[in-house]
Amino acid sequence: MSRVITSTSPQKPSDVVLETPALTAPEVAAAVLRARAAQKGWGENAMARAAALRGCAEGLRARSAEMAALITREVGKPIVEAKGEVARAIAILDYNAQAAIDPIGTVIPPTTPGYLMAVREPYGVAGLITPWNFPIAIPVWKAAPALAVGNAVVMKPSGMAIGVAKLIEEIFAQSLPKDLFQVLVGGAECGQAIIEFADVISFTGSSEVGAQIVAQAAKCGKPVQAEMGGQNPAIVLPDADLALTVAHLSNASMSYAGQKCTATSRIIVVGDDARYKEVTDALVAGVEKLSPNDPATEGVLVGPVISDSARADVENAAKGAVARGGKVLIGGAPVDRDGWFYSPTLIADLGPEDQLNQEETFGPIAGVIRAKSVGEAIDSANSVRFGLTGSVHGRDLEATIRVAQSLKTGMVKVNAPTAGLDFHAPVGGTKDSSYGEREQGKEGLAFYSFIRTITLGAGSRRFE
Ligand code: NAD
Repeated sequence: MSRVITSTSPQKPSDVVLETPALTAPEVAAAVLRARAAQKGWGENAMARAAALRGCAEGLRARSAEMAALITREVGKPIVEAKGEVARAIAILDYNAQAAIDPIGTVIPPTTPGYLMAVREPYGVAGLITPWNFPIAIPVWKAAPALAVGNAVVMKPSGMAIGVAKLIEEIFAQSLPKDLFQVLVGGAECGQAIIEFADVISFTGSSEVGAQIVAQAAKCGKPVQAEMGGQNPAIVLPDADLALTVAHLSNASMSYAGQKCTATSRIIVVGDDARYKEVTDALVAGVEKLSPNDPATEGVLVGPVISDSARADVENAAKGAVARGGKVLIGGAPVDRDGWFYSPTLIADLGPEDQLNQEETFGPIAGVIRAKSVGEAIDSANSVRFGLTGSVHGRDLEATIRVAQSLKTGMVKVNAPTAGLDFHAPVGGTKDSSYGEREQGKEGLAFYSFIRTITLGAGSRRFE
């Protein structure tokens, strides 16, 4: 019996966005075969690839309002951020359209007459497995470089973002050859079949699933990259500009209900009792302004979390923290309305080793931790198994540099929020947050190709 995947709106769970059967492993195998056939011509013509990717950008630009509204409806992203995500996806397509005609290798001095070259070649079919929280930016930041360097793409979106994925497929189909980019809807069986049949694998999602994907891909001998969870610290130094820092931190921890891999989950305050009180009072005042509401309303920054089980996770994290001695500074309860809303929550008085400050909850909840010195703050920040991103806030140049250089994270922000990435710079983490090559920018392009070394011999000299 075939399984059905159903996507519903988190702010109005009775609103079914899309319902579609889950693909089986043999259906995935057939889709990969079709993609492989489509890739042949595509891999040979860089000019055509650049033009087609520009066409995808144009197609998305023309339907950007529709796409943003669908993102808000399907995953509850505040409309202002949904519009920003669509704009980013367009920028990524433009960047990669241009990258399709970048140089693809190097010429190396040969040891014998002729030429010695190292040239980048596409693998064939890229298999992408994506999460729900950036339902267009992440699919596009994987698919665009994969296509630009000459691969076909099969992509399994999260079951909670299949409506957006199918709209991407529809828009891309206007500009790309048939079967070159296919969205394969399904559950774990579909994802595992993609790993088995595709040639290069890129995953974004939780660290638990990511570890399984990496192990399976390695067993099949496939190149794999995985971007996973975070437990991102923000260190507030004694001389930080309070108004600016609080604006950054309340937004980075709570906007989109804290459901960004780069959200701030721990706020580490350096200083004496008076400074700690000043910072926490200002944080509470900042978070208070972010009351949850319908994400389709302009100006709203906090909507629902993605599902009832995600809300239960936030609730359990808050209750557990309180049971272990945590003090709720603000929030700490579900919002009484239709949809999966939870009030933005700050919890203080727990040490860096507490579960709340160690694991990723993926919701509107953050721990506030005290540190007596900058060194203690750095140790606290680095005491987790994750290493995606971190931020430091302060005016003392030497202290900010020291912190920036000491955080064991793949990305560091100084006087800027942890949340937010540039579309043309490498993205990725350390420890359990990341595996394999970086995404985006030149590194992202490199991942989807292998290097072939070519020797052109001219040793006979028979024309001389
Ligand atoms: P998830 O791990 O539950 O799912 C991710 C994808 O994997 C989905 O498509 C899912 O259907 C698929 N999947 C699940 N089990 C599978 C299996 N056994 N085999 C094959 N595929 C399987 O993650 P999610 O809830 O969609 O997303 C939230 C998580 O993603 C958070 O942990 C967040 O931090 C992380 N994330 C990381 C980044 C980053 O760049 N580091 C960006 C966004 C989200």
